Amino acid sequence: MNAPALRVLSVIPPMTQLNTPYPSTAYITGFLRSRGVDAVQVDLALALVLQLFTPAGLQAVQLRALAQPEAERTASVHAFLDQFQRYQHTIGPVMAFLQGRDSTLAHRIAARELLPEGPRFAALEVYVDAALGEEGGDPLAWAFGALGVQDKARHLATLYLNDLADVLRDAVDERFAFVRYAESLASSQPSFDPMAAALAAAPTLIDELLHTLTLATLARHTPDVVLLSVPFPGALYAALRIAQSIKAQNPHIAIALGGGFVNTELRELAEPRLFDFVDYVTLDAGERPLLALLEYLGRKRSKQRLVRTFVREDNEVRYINFVEPDVPFEDVGTPTWDGLPLDRYLSLLDMLNPMHRLWSDGRWNKLTVAHGCYWKKCSFCDVSLDYISRYETASAGTLADRIEAIVGETGQTGFHFVDEAAPPKALKALAQELLRRQLPISWWGNIRFEKTFTPELCQLLADSGCIAMSGGLEVASDRLLTLMKKGVSVEQVARVTKGFADAGILVHAYLMYGFPTQTVQDTVDALEYVRQLFENGCIQSGFFHRFACTVHSPVGLDPAAYGIELIPLPEVTFAKNDIGFIDPTGVDHDALGIGLRKAIYNYMHGIGLDEDVRVWFSHLPGKVPKATVGRHRIAKALNQPA
Ligand code: SF4
Repeated sequence: MNAPALRVLSVIPPMTQLNTPYPSTAYITGFLRSRGVDAVQVDLALALVLQLFTPAGLQAVQLRALAQPEAERTASVHAFLDQFQRYQHTIGPVMAFLQGRDSTLAHRIAARELLPEGPRFAALEVYVDAALGEEGGDPLAWAFGALGVQDKARHLATLYLNDLADVLRDAVDERFAFVRYAESLASSQPSFDPMAAALAAAPTLIDELLHTLTLATLARHTPDVVLLSVPFPGALYAALRIAQSIKAQNPHIAIALGGGFVNTELRELAEPRLFDFVDYVTLDAGERPLLALLEYLGRKRSKQRLVRTFVREDNEVRYINFVEPDVPFEDVGTPTWDGLPLDRYLSLLDMLNPMHRLWSDGRWNKLTVAHGCYWKKCSFCDVSLDYISRYETASAGTLADRIEAIVGETGQTGFHFVDEAAPPKALKALAQELLRRQLPISWWGNIRFEKTFTPELCQLLADSGCIAMSGGLEVASDRLLTLMKKGVSVEQVARVTKGFADAGILVHAYLMYGFPTQTVQDTVDALEYVRQLFENGCIQSGFFHRFACTVHSPVGLDPAAYGIELIPLPEVTFAKNDIGFIDPTGVDHDALGIGLRKAIYNYMHGIGLDEDVRVWFSHLPGKVPKATVGRHRIAKALNQPA
């Protein structure tokens, strides 16, 4: 007797990004369909936001806000209640505008008479300061010029939504944020206790909406198997709420949990209570474990032959790994966005910086050029894990075929290559193939700023549609770049980024502070380099991350080699990732981080580039030394041959 065909539903749980679907379900649905599986997908993160931000949704929020004692209401909640009628009348049109379905509303929004304004609009005053003290007039005119009505309106509408997100956080559920929900319950959480308690608590308004959405999804798709894809810790709580609703409705539906968070943090899972919600937890690239799981559920393979899968047996967690080769990157199929409401995503404009906005504005098809990282040496990176260490490529022809198929399906020609570090060789071959096929796409991606990216290659990439590149400069210090095995020098990064910029490609630099042995002087010197990179037009955007030591990175695996001592973790049965450490330098990186963030924010708006970098550390009087880097070091490096 043949086993019945199984219908598989992949779910993106709240919260992830709102401008474009997180790609994991698109990848897995495309792959499963290529193997003849009946596979569908749903984005419950977007669906939840679209439910909340309606007149009825806001009314439910208002009820919660009114139930709060007046003395406990925050400024956001007061502003919301005071202007509630205006919020209710404008929410529908604003959402349609942000979805790109009603662009003419821009004029009314930009005039600043239509939308109610809460505390988030105070950020606009920053631009008054930014415009070097010019008082009066329209501060946004400085930022957008006379022609940017659409962008100005998009920015104002984003502030309006951010105000509403603050109200949700302050009046409905303190764990709510647009891109993460209840993150602390999962992130490096050694015990499942806090998560179990939260899941046993009475549902919040958000939980109730999610429950209703989950039941509607089950009714629509009638799945036999549900895959919960959890890319970040801030999506696990909602994923388990969804699982709770599914199990209550139909306990026969098999639920599997996977995704980036699981692959990184649940590798030593020993918590049987997680299996009150899900039946299987799979590690690393999902294709092979899922094929094995579907065969098992279809009674075509025994349980002992599951691949990289945790199950619960006799109230204990058991890891089963019948070793089979992973599906090669060349054979994973083409992602599909079929079933996702592509015209309902929200193009938000948080930051006025043209590069920074790419992350929140516009619907980008997400694709990878390769699996893993070809470099896999950086000492802060999870180089021991599959998503970095297993490096595989596909031919330029295969990638171009995927691109053509995706454009055909979605009608959208924008691509974000979401590799950790796309290999230059593959990018070059792909660019040549795109030009040969005359495929007019726009694309951006993440790379290492290595010297293979010559000005000629940068120009070729630009000709093929590359509009922006991001990459890690980390700490701009040759001593620390060597210690972290980044394989680049500051001057080399300057030349490479300038090559991109000269080809018309925007450049974003990932910056780091707090790396082991980093001194205050290192931090000031690194900021001086960053200032010069902006000043010389090498980079247009950047972000400072605080270094976090993870158990999977070379630093976490061999702390003595980096001069630090790890703080022992408590017993871990659940999530394990970040680990505290003692750095004998004893630098107060938190205090320095405030100045670094202030500096980068201003540099991205073209402000303060002439100032001594110490100006950003005015909160640390007398504690920050002068930079030892010459003020024209980068300019000189750019004039030298590579
Ligand atoms: S940090 Fe980037 S370049 Fe370095 S090993 Fe990790 S993925 Fe590769």
